[in-house]
Amino acid sequence: MKIKELETFSPEETFALGEEMGRAAKPGEVYSLIGDLGVGKTVFTQGMARGLGITEPVSSPTFTIVQVYEQGRMPFYHFDVYRIGDLEEMEEIGYEDCFYGDGLSLVEWGCRIEELLPETYREIRIEKDPEQGFDYRKVTIREVGI
Ligand code: ADP
Ligand code: MG
Repeated sequence: MKIKELETFSPEETFALGEEMGRAAKPGEVYSLIGDLGVGKTVFTQGMARGLGITEPVSSPTFTIVQVYEQGRMPFYHFDVYRIGDLEEMEEIGYEDCFYGDGLSLVEWGCRIEELLPETYREIRIEKDPEQGFDYRKVTIREVGI
């Protein structure tokens, strides 16, 4: 298991980090995104989408668990499982076709469906630190099973 710790000091930097990872991403990869409300998960996701070549606006899926974007160099499956009731909801939407398909899956609050995550995935944890200022974020990337 590899762990990498980064820091960002503005939303633009978090976006750029997501963009860089989106550019490097390979089909079939799964990312679990963790962090409190308002920490920058959506900012990171928007960067990642841009890195895949998606120019249409990306926001958190509110009424559906997953939002699919086909515009980029591979399909982008953006999950938000914050409000998920039980794991069966994931089955119902056919998450396996996403996780084990040829696109990039990003799951906001992936820790809530940890049992369903594949054997290998990357966990991205974003945290604030009040002592470091309002716009500071620590970003920890953990490679699980890789
Ligand atoms: P989440 O999806 O985790 O609930 P959002 O991405 O919607 O959070 O919102 C993050 C908020 O924090 C935005 O208003 C953004 O401008 C602000 N922000 C301040 N500093 C940063 C930073 N370093 N990285 C990301 N967002 C930041
Ligand atoms: Mg969000």
